[in-house]
Amino acid sequence: MLDLLVVAPHPDDGELGCGGTLARAKAEGLTTGILDLTRGEMGSKGSAEERAREVVEASRILGLDFRGNLELPDGGLMDVPEQRLRLAEALRRLRPRIVFAPLEADRHPDHTAASRLAVAAVHLAGLRKAPLEGEPHRVERLFFYPGNHPFTPSFLVKISAFIDRWEQAVLAYKSQFAGEAVSETVGPKGVEARKALRRHFGNYLGVDYAEPFVSPLPVLYTPWSRA
Ligand SMILES: [Zn+2]
Repeated sequence: MLDLLVVAPHPDDGELGCGGTLARAKAEGLTTGILDLTRGEMGSKGSAEERAREVVEASRILGLDFRGNLELPDGGLMDVPEQRLRLAEALRRLRPRIVFAPLEADRHPDHTAASRLAVAAVHLAGLRKAPLEGEPHRVERLFFYPGNHPFTPSFLVKISAFIDRWEQAVLAYKSQFAGEAVSETVGPKGVEARKALRRHFGNYLGVDYAEPFVSPLPVLYTPWSRA
C-alpha cells in the first residue's frame, strides 16, 4: 500500500513533474513510488544501461519506497484495452491512495496516452467484475502534473526545502540533461525552465518554490488555514 504513486511515461518524467512533492511526502512519513510505463528506449540520448543506472540513482535520492516499470513500448503508449489492463493490475498490486499522472495536453503523444491510460486504469482497478488479477482497489484521488504545454494549476505544493533534492533527482538523468540539448526539454535548459516554473508558482504563495498540479475535481481548500 502506497500513499503516493506517480505514473510516468518515461523514466525522468516522474522526477521532473513531481520530484519535490515526492521528497516532501517522504520527509513527512508517507510512502511514495514511481511507476514508469516504458524504459525510454526511443530517447535520442543515453543507452538502456545508462538510463537504468540513472533510474536507480534518482530513486535513491528521492527515497522512493517503490520504483517499477511496466515495459510498455516507448513511442507506442496508446489508450487501448491491453495497456489499460496492465496499468490497472499494477494499481491493484500497489494500492496507492493518490495517483499523479501526466496532464493530457502535451506535445508528446506518449504523455497524452499515459494520461488517458491512468484515468481508465484508475476506474478499472476499482471494478469488481473487471477481467483483472487482484483485489479491486479504489484510488482516492487522481491528479495531473504538467509537461510541456501551458496549463492553469488547481493547487500548489510548497517544496522550498526540497528544491535541491528535486534538482539532484532530475540531474541524476545525466544522459538526458547534461551536454547538448536535443529539444526544449532534453538538455540543461529543460531543467532550468522547470526550476523557474517552480519559482514562479512559489512566488504566488510568498515562498521560494512550489510544484503545480491540476485536479479534474474541485479541491478542498480552507482559506484561513495555512495547511
Ligand atoms: Zn516523457
